[in-house]
Amino acid sequence: MTGTVVVVGSANVDLVVDVPRHPGPGETILGGNLRRTPGGKGANQAVAAARAGGADTWFLGALGRDEAADLLLASLTGAGVHTDLVARSAEATGTALIWVTDDGENAIIVAPGANSEVSVDAVAARRLAVADVVLAQLEIPLETVVAAARARRDGARLVLNAAPSRDLPAQLWAEVDILVVNEHEARDLAGRDGSPAQLATALLERVPAVVVTLGGDGALVAERGSEHQSVTAPRVTAVDTTGAGDTFCGVLAAALADGASLAGAARLAAAAGALAVTRPGAQDAVPTATETAHLAR
Ligand code: ATP
Repeated sequence: MTGTVVVVGSANVDLVVDVPRHPGPGETILGGNLRRTPGGKGANQAVAAARAGGADTWFLGALGRDEAADLLLASLTGAGVHTDLVARSAEATGTALIWVTDDGENAIIVAPGANSEVSVDAVAARRLAVADVVLAQLEIPLETVVAAARARRDGARLVLNAAPSRDLPAQLWAEVDILVVNEHEARDLAGRDGSPAQLATALLERVPAVVVTLGGDGALVAERGSEHQSVTAPRVTAVDTTGAGDTFCGVLAAALADGASLAGAARLAAAAGALAVTRPGAQDAVPTATETAHLAR
């Protein structure tokens, strides 16, 4: 793959504990061993874009000056992501406290820390002007996402993964080229209920293209002026769905930067997302280009 992707977003250290059940108010319970793994939607998506092979990938975010930052930098650089645009903050690196019950149900609290400092000034950096695709999510200040969108060069596409669910300001809607959402986020943004196809049609009134991800059912690709296209997910045994959506978005952006059609990019992204759910963790679960190409064939 060729092309340049700049991912603008969050980086977190995920602190994960298995628990027999969720604790009640005021209660202390014993859990399993603590796992400490690199995560955060922005960093996960940057790792996925870089591992997709060939696309020059930059991560624009903010980390603290702590051990968690070292863990994230090692994961990003290990995947081949350029980290020159990562700011260092006096705040602690973003941290996600995650507990997982035996039935696989997660509860998560995110302390944003340094992610709150991914600033409008930082996106003025010149690298954004060379991006073929700017990929952003909503775990950093919204004004920074808008500034990143505006800093891209003419012809560069903004792929917005509107997660976690938040209302979007009009200035951001106006910039989006491709919106990537799961069904829940699609419903929130469309302000109505309906089938994935109905939700995608409603969202096409605001943006030129929409991809709705559907877990094990794959994804729906909708573009103005074309029939909606279904992308099937390869059948796999899921062990941990964390990071499937992020893997999908990163690989989608890399394939688009390489010149793939939206439907072609979504097929590759669906194969990568399927592989990600067969492994534990977020960044650690992202497949290589060879593995993805093999499954997508
Ligand atoms: P998460 O927040 O858990 O990372 P998400 O809700 O943003 O995920 P999903 O729609 O669950 O996103 O997953 C993204 C993509 O990953 C899907 O479109 C699909 O291609 C792939 N995928 C996810 N779960 C499965 C599964 N069980 N089997 C096969 N592919 C899957």
